[in-house]
Amino acid sequence: MKTVKDVDFKDKKALIRVDFNVPLNEDLEVTDTTRIEAAKPTIIHILEEGGSCILVSHLGRPKQREDKFSLRHIVNSATEIFGVTVTFVQDCIGPAAEEAAANLRPGEILLLENVRYYQEETDGDRDFAEKLSKLADYYVNDAFGTAHRAHASTTVVADFFGDRKCFGLLLASEIENVKKVLSDGKSPVTAIIGGAKVSSKITVIENILDTIDHLIIGGGMAFTFIKAQGGNIGGSLVEEDKQEVALEILDLAKKKNVHVHLPVDVIAADSFSEYANTTTEPADNIPEGWLGLDAGPRTNEQFAEVVAKSNTILWNGPVGVFEIEKFSHGTIALGNAIASATENGTFSLVGGGDSVAAVKQFGLTNKVSYVSTGGGAMLEMLEGKTLPGIKAILD
Ligand code: AMP
Repeated sequence: MKTVKDVDFKDKKALIRVDFNVPLNEDLEVTDTTRIEAAKPTIIHILEEGGSCILVSHLGRPKQREDKFSLRHIVNSATEIFGVTVTFVQDCIGPAAEEAAANLRPGEILLLENVRYYQEETDGDRDFAEKLSKLADYYVNDAFGTAHRAHASTTVVADFFGDRKCFGLLLASEIENVKKVLSDGKSPVTAIIGGAKVSSKITVIENILDTIDHLIIGGGMAFTFIKAQGGNIGGSLVEEDKQEVALEILDLAKKKNVHVHLPVDVIAADSFSEYANTTTEPADNIPEGWLGLDAGPRTNEQFAEVVAKSNTILWNGPVGVFEIEKFSHGTIALGNAIASATENGTFSLVGGGDSVAAVKQFGLTNKVSYVSTGGGAMLEMLEGKTLPGIKAILD
């Protein structure tokens, strides 16, 4: 895997696709800088090698030029984080961008305006990609969050750089960390798949069954499995049309000697609300009208036991409605169990959706081995797909 460490950037300009799709508040201030910080190692490396950086990103989903989607709102945060003044240009192609790029000197950073102001970006337009490519000597992809999109700045642009292209350090480490679970994982390997819907995780589960020893299924999606096996799930979340698939997955797991762990008890509520009345019920015997919204105490213990004996853990999806305090205890208990296992030498990867938000919310980010920066992109990697943004660098 060719990364920025394998390239001589002296007096060269690097066009770096970063993922600065950060949340802004009503005053258009950045409220979470994680993604900007994640790009720092690549940027600083290139600057230290005597190169300059031209950063290209999207922000939100603008239909046209709309100020609330302007990347100028992140200039101050980026300048502070990188410790280098970030110059901003109000376009990503055309004369203004070309002039700003031409004037860039070694050690400097230029941030281009939102690439999605152009429909050509999401269309993967070749002419547009070629215009972008004219700004720099090298192309670096460090945007894991959009690596699953075949857009102009994430994929097509790479074509115009021949072999003058490489991975940024963030994208490289995302790839390496997934490998640590999917191909090099030290057994016992445990995957914890939670969240709302089975339908969005079927392909992931099917793909990882060859690699794992234990599969913990939690959250809303567990009820489709429990109902399919004849359990009473009351008013809990269920995907009726996925019961057949759920049984097939259980069958396949058995054939592949994967131990499946489903919740044995749940915190059931009489409404989906923080004011709900709650009771602890067996997961397969929830009274009519009650909804299972969190893992129960026995489940938490059993999941923690599996986690404690694992050497490799993948965590994707919460085991309850963690956004509501009352139903967050299962997810917190699981997060703490993973943190303790990690402290004892287990490799733990958290990625692909809301478990990342949960880990952040509960202060566990530094207590697990790796937290992925890409939701959809991580899910597609776990599904076993080669992402277009990654393929474009390898080709
Ligand atoms: P996902 O994006 O598929 O990882 O799903 C995450 C969502 O699943 C979160 O918003 C959780 O609130 C939700 N969730 C987890 N457990 C349950 C449950 N038992 N019932 C309903 N929603 C749940």
